[in-house]
Amino acid sequence: MLDTLRRIVQEVNNAPDIRSALDLMAQRVRDAMGTEVCSIYLRDNNEERYMLMASEGLKREAVGRVSLGTSEGLVGQVGQREEPINLEDAFSHPKFHYLAETGEDPFHAFLGVPVMHHGEVLGVLVVQQRDARRFDQSEEAFLVTISAQLSAVIAHAHASGVLFDQLDTKDLPSIHDGQPGSTGAAIGIGVLLFPETDLSAVPDRDATDISGEIALLDEALVRVRQEIRDLAERAKKSLGPEEQALFDVYLRMLDRQALPAEVVARIREGQWAQGALRTVVDAHVHNFEMMDDPYLRERAADVRDLGRRVLGQLQSRNRRRIEFPKACILMGEDISAPMLMEMPEENIAGIVTTRGSRNSHMAIVARAMGIPTVVGAQNLPLKKLDGKELIVDGFRGRVIANASAELKAQFEDIIAEEKHLLAGLEKLRDEPAETEDGQRITLQVNTGLMTDIVRSIERGAEGVGLYRTEIPFMVRDRFPSEEEQRLIYREQLSAFAPHGVTMRTLDVGGDKPLSYFPIEEDNPFLGWRGIRLTLDHPEIFIVQVRAMLKAAEGLNNLRIMLPMITTVIEAEEAQHLIHRAWLEVREEGVDVEMPPVGVMIEVPASVYQARALAQRVEFLSVGTNDLTQYLLAVDRNNRQVSELYNSCHPAVLHALLHVVEQAHEEGKPVSVCGEMAGDPSTALILMAMGFDSLSMNASNLLRVKAAVRQVNMTFLRRLLNEVLAMDNGEVIASYLDLQLTKVGLGDLVRHRKPA
Ligand code: PEP
Ligand code: MG
Repeated sequence: MLDTLRRIVQEVNNAPDIRSALDLMAQRVRDAMGTEVCSIYLRDNNEERYMLMASEGLKREAVGRVSLGTSEGLVGQVGQREEPINLEDAFSHPKFHYLAETGEDPFHAFLGVPVMHHGEVLGVLVVQQRDARRFDQSEEAFLVTISAQLSAVIAHAHASGVLFDQLDTKDLPSIHDGQPGSTGAAIGIGVLLFPETDLSAVPDRDATDISGEIALLDEALVRVRQEIRDLAERAKKSLGPEEQALFDVYLRMLDRQALPAEVVARIREGQWAQGALRTVVDAHVHNFEMMDDPYLRERAADVRDLGRRVLGQLQSRNRRRIEFPKACILMGEDISAPMLMEMPEENIAGIVTTRGSRNSHMAIVARAMGIPTVVGAQNLPLKKLDGKELIVDGFRGRVIANASAELKAQFEDIIAEEKHLLAGLEKLRDEPAETEDGQRITLQVNTGLMTDIVRSIERGAEGVGLYRTEIPFMVRDRFPSEEEQRLIYREQLSAFAPHGVTMRTLDVGGDKPLSYFPIEEDNPFLGWRGIRLTLDHPEIFIVQVRAMLKAAEGLNNLRIMLPMITTVIEAEEAQHLIHRAWLEVREEGVDVEMPPVGVMIEVPASVYQARALAQRVEFLSVGTNDLTQYLLAVDRNNRQVSELYNSCHPAVLHALLHVVEQAHEEGKPVSVCGEMAGDPSTALILMAMGFDSLSMNASNLLRVKAAVRQVNMTFLRRLLNEVLAMDNGEVIASYLDLQLTKVGLGDLVRHRKPA
């Protein structure tokens, strides 16, 4: 039996597509078990139905057409019970639901097992036989085993959204998973962006006039460089200098010594300009795509885009004129940052790409522009969706096509609610974050992009609790110089003065790689990241601190924060280097005070060293994103385990309480700057714990403020004591939502969880 099982699994895994995999599964299981029918019903979550997806023995024409509700028939029963149902005579079971289209009349014996994946029922595998008989235990065990082994194939197809696409189900809703690139929801018409010039279509030809071809290339380059400069100019309106650095990267690639030099070399070898361009671009794209570093892989998109632009000029054709609907969802394999800047900003409701990741330049720009974005939706049928209405769910990272009226209405509500809520909240801008009984808390913002400044100030932020300095490092192709950094930091400091700006020293490594500083590690989150890396490279650390200090001259609102601290030695070494940098800049005549230095508590070890750390530094700030990941041993970016990632886990809550107590016993202020601080329900719990300040994304600030202003401390302390006594994180999260909804904060807490 084991051999048969192994063979079936292997065959199914090798099937060219999901449709053939399902057919094979049904055939092979029927043969192996010697039954007359084997059918596979898969759950379509949008429709809340089990659809017959493959069958050996039932009528072919029923496949893809016949379905059962999730509580309908024996199939629904297997799904609900999440266990096998083995019946001698299905017809006599009260739940039996006769499906005339399948021709199942003659089959009496029924055995159905659920297809489970990660605790979820994906479908039901059924075998049927004419004779009324109970399947024996070994047959039941075989079906259960095969179903478990094949569930991964089905789960994969489910996740990629291709399952129901391949059926004749044109009008059924389809949900395509990707990654959140920029949060928010949008509804609009899909507009497929495709390059008019297809580099891969360029044939090889010999150059008849080599210098003529080089001249053609030079002319094209002049025009493309100008095109990029024009785009950069237009981008100035909506992007800050560090995002605009992307355009410098493009211009550098177009430098005569860079990519073009290689093209010229090819032309000199006898290729015509277009062919030479294709060869060079292909080689670079291939090299970038082979790289392990996800950030470097993104560069392939940039080179591809530049190649298309140069080709476009070489071919001297006009660009395709695209008609932009009022609310459009831009779709493309990769959409580069400059491509995005070319589009009329007011018409862009959302963005979707099939390639790319959160690290792509485009995603960075989309976040700066506040456009809901989903990236890496690998199986999105782009061509089919051009001109169709789509929903972009940037909260969860999914794209929905053919949404049912109900689902669409749900998203319309989310969008309207978001707008409405924000409009209503704006009047709170200058009000204090103070409970009904007069307890105040400082609300600050997390920043990284220049555009965050405006939004933060508009929302009345009381300074910056976390400025992620790695962002300006990530959008460049080399380390920014001290002066470049000084200018960027100065903007932040002066925009928020006299409020404090907490600048975190470079926190790269882990999931934040730098293209120009590749790190090869098996386990990057437990590796060389944050302070570990910068202490090994004091030259990088000191330049950064010097830039910060110089930027704070005359303002003195700088606070320096150290990421990923695990030992007191790291904090001491970093403090020593900061002091050295301060002495240096003072000697150079910069009149700046020594800034307060604090540490982030984001590693379990630092929770238990909170007192020792608090004795050495001026403030603590808890990074709950990493703290949750490390306490629960759950990768914060891994979708497989995302259900386990829960900042309301009792271990996280008790750790947080411990940190506040230790810091306060040492008389030091302590804040939270992870996502937990920006979620109204957890923010209130943090306030009850005694945190002095909370720092969050600008878009959440007014929500949290509104929540704070509608509660009192007696209520919050009671709520805190209740949740601290609970032992289940999921129960805690729902209990918080429920209690806050009961006191009228439903709108604020429900918002963060779109359907
Ligand atoms: C955190 O870990 O909670 C944090 C604020 O830092 P980052 O999300 O940048 O790692
Ligand atoms: Mg962190």
